[in-house]
Amino acid sequence: MSKRDYYEVLGVERGADKKDIKKKYRSLANKYHPDKNPNDADALEKFKEIAEAYEVLSSDEKREMYDRFGHEGVNGQAGGHGGAGGFGDIFGDVFGDIFGGAGGGSRSRRGSDLRYTLELTLEQAVWGCDEKIRIPTLVDCKKCDGSGAKPGTKPITCQTCQGAGQVRMSQGFFSVQQTCPQCHGSGQIIADPCNACHGQGRTQEYKTLSVKIPAGVDTGDRIRLSGEGEAGGPGAPAGDLFVQVSVKRHAIFERDGANLHCDVPISFTTAALGGEIDVPTLDGRVRLKVTPECQTGKLFRLRGKGVKPVRGGAVGDLICRVVVETPVKLTEKQKELLRELEQEMNNGGDHSHSPKQKSWFDGVKNFFDDIKK
Ligand SMILES: [Zn+2]
Ligand SMILES: [Zn+2]
Repeated sequence: MSKRDYYEVLGVERGADKKDIKKKYRSLANKYHPDKNPNDADALEKFKEIAEAYEVLSSDEKREMYDRFGHEGVNGQAGGHGGAGGFGDIFGDVFGDIFGGAGGGSRSRRGSDLRYTLELTLEQAVWGCDEKIRIPTLVDCKKCDGSGAKPGTKPITCQTCQGAGQVRMSQGFFSVQQTCPQCHGSGQIIADPCNACHGQGRTQEYKTLSVKIPAGVDTGDRIRLSGEGEAGGPGAPAGDLFVQVSVKRHAIFERDGANLHCDVPISFTTAALGGEIDVPTLDGRVRLKVTPECQTGKLFRLRGKGVKPVRGGAVGDLICRVVVETPVKLTEKQKELLRELEQEMNNGGDHSHSPKQKSWFDGVKNFFDDIKK
């Protein structure tokens, strides 16, 4: 088989500088890398061809020989130092991250992390609690003890890779190590799969866990349970379980960080004359003094009646917003009394009992006066 021109393989000009050659090589090698093209013989051939071209063109000495004598000029030399050593030298800087840890391969795969959303009431989130959660998880198959082979049988060593899980493909002085296509890296072949787990060695089960929720958590907080995620491959650690907190809406309180907010309806008599009202807090009722002439929207701040944040810091406040309520379902007598009150208040004829109304009417009057001009 006649070899293609190395410059053509990398798609560079004959006079291309080292930087351009390296750049072209990286992008091509990435594209045809065996990890990205599993079981693709054409891609593997391309990959080897690219690697070979780069080995020569990246070396001043070899490139000069190649320029002068063509393929004949470098073949003898390359054969001399061949083997995986040379291969590693060239690939070290480009594929350090991919090939570096290839020894372990997929045999010792850490289990996946799992996420579980836990709904809490506001009280549970504020005070903390112990919750039991039931989560699906992959565990070692009980029937085959995680081997994946039917009870009574054993997995056999993969003939293709002799149990290594990796195979070396060599051509000339190049050698590419890749995951064994026969056993997919496990080094073993299961001839007679366990029928409970279909040869996977793991089955899905539910497990119940106790989760200690610290006081002060809020929606979006995560609690990590180390090693409670999915089981890993043989000999590998399990993943972690992340419990993600989601706090349900509360009927009365709305939370804003460490502070709690709530609306407190009061009668218009209490609003006018002042008085005392009961305000709910998370740890019981509190008497609140309402000053006379209190309007809707007035805020009362109850210090320290909010939430103690889980990450530390001061306890927040409970902020109560007064809402003056208009009386409904009035009897004839009540209506009569109100009309009497209204008349009494209007005797002055200047809205002095309703300062907001007064300034509003003044504003409206000025507005129309301006239009008339
Ligand atoms: Zn099984
Ligand atoms: Zn194998």
